[in-house]
Amino acid sequence: MGTPSDKLRARVDGTVDRLAVVLGDQLDRESPALADLDPSRDAVLMMEVAEEATHVPSHKQRTALFLSAMRHFALELLDDGYRVRYIKLDEPRNTGTLAGEVDRAVSILTPAHVTLVQPGEHRVLAAIRRWAKRASVDCTIQQDTHFLTPLDQFAEWAEGRKQLVMEYFYREQRRRLDILMTKQGKPRGERWNYDKENREAFGEDPRPPKPMRFSPDRITQEVIQLVDRQFPSAYGSVEDFGWPVTRRDAARALKDFLAKRLAHFGPHQDAMWTDQPFLYHSLISPVLNLKLLDPQAAVAGAIEAFEAGDAPIQSVEGFVRQVIGWREFIRGVYWTEGAEYGERNTLQQFGSLPDFYWTGETDMHCLTQSLGQVVRHGYGHHIQRLMVTGNFALIAGIHPRAISEWYLAMYVDAVDWVTLPNTLGMVMHADGGVVGTKPYAASGRYIQRMSNYCESCRFNPGKRTGEDACPFTTFYWDLLIRN
Ligand code: SF4
Repeated sequence: MGTPSDKLRARVDGTVDRLAVVLGDQLDRESPALADLDPSRDAVLMMEVAEEATHVPSHKQRTALFLSAMRHFALELLDDGYRVRYIKLDEPRNTGTLAGEVDRAVSILTPAHVTLVQPGEHRVLAAIRRWAKRASVDCTIQQDTHFLTPLDQFAEWAEGRKQLVMEYFYREQRRRLDILMTKQGKPRGERWNYDKENREAFGEDPRPPKPMRFSPDRITQEVIQLVDRQFPSAYGSVEDFGWPVTRRDAARALKDFLAKRLAHFGPHQDAMWTDQPFLYHSLISPVLNLKLLDPQAAVAGAIEAFEAGDAPIQSVEGFVRQVIGWREFIRGVYWTEGAEYGERNTLQQFGSLPDFYWTGETDMHCLTQSLGQVVRHGYGHHIQRLMVTGNFALIAGIHPRAISEWYLAMYVDAVDWVTLPNTLGMVMHADGGVVGTKPYAASGRYIQRMSNYCESCRFNPGKRTGEDACPFTTFYWDLLIRN
């Protein structure tokens, strides 16, 4: 019996004028690469290539999410009359690389012009540029209009500044985009930032509403089996796959967050709790980073909830800051600092990544929890990433490249432009202070304050020596001595 994605095997016949290449994290119907395509003369190229799941290891759920979202997007394009050349991962003639597949498509379809949106990774951009240099066809790489800040605008803002402080960038964004501003040009609520109010721990067992999860449809089931077959030794589990893979479901996930969790998101956004992987977080970063969801829609929805009195300013401002501030800032840093950024190691740390990062199996309860949910869901919220998995790597002296690659490999929302500055810069302080003004190092006491993890741990967060000394506390003091 056929499967719904069999339609993707149909080949585009004859020559085309323009070939629009759509990469796996560019599933944006408003993409400039798709603008003005003439279905009778032009075509779209989408490719599943092994290189993208193996250049660093990739969590099975992450690979499955990308492939399923790509297949749904390609089928939507076909239904809307586009001609799509779609290369599946297990096709016998698949070359396994993006450049190889673009080359093969160009030799068959002989387009006069190839167009694509700027990829989200220096490695991929370099590969496309190398290909374009030797190809006998014009190739245009266009700005990614999904983002709210054109890269030249960010570069202009960054020019001449001694340090790139996110807070200043964020205020500029608020003014420029006229978000949460009064008519007099002041911030709504009289303050720019409610960060201080957003650091509450849970006094008792929190009971957040369950987030909307999406059962795998036949296409997702098909790619889950494919991923298991093609990458049997890949890390992570796909059993609990529940991510949205279409624009429609991305919008439903956003609506669910706005209605049920946004109001409590702000105060508790830094808190953690045993066996509560999602708490009040939005879970929309995977669909934002695949471009299935427009950041403007996410922000507009949050502001609407604020105007309607359904969510307080501290939650709405906290969410808006993540989307128009931090996310855009991190991307600006990634492209402004250049490909060499990934090689920095200011604190001169060279340790290898402990094996338990891939399995979650350790005696440290905070890490068992934070890593265990990454293995199971490919997800952790920002404080787990910064202050547990990241903090441990920083204070234990792990090489910044090793931990950055782990983040890229293991989170379903990971794309290099977002994980590299967040990890190498914010978590590891390896960029010498471009992203963060200081290293975010903390002892076990911080984790004890912000979670209940320490209550079920064999270590004591207050002790730095002895049998039951908390490794976080020991390594924290060690970091201070080392530096
Ligand atoms: Fe983590 Fe230390 Fe607390 Fe154990 S005692 S949960 S290792 S911070």
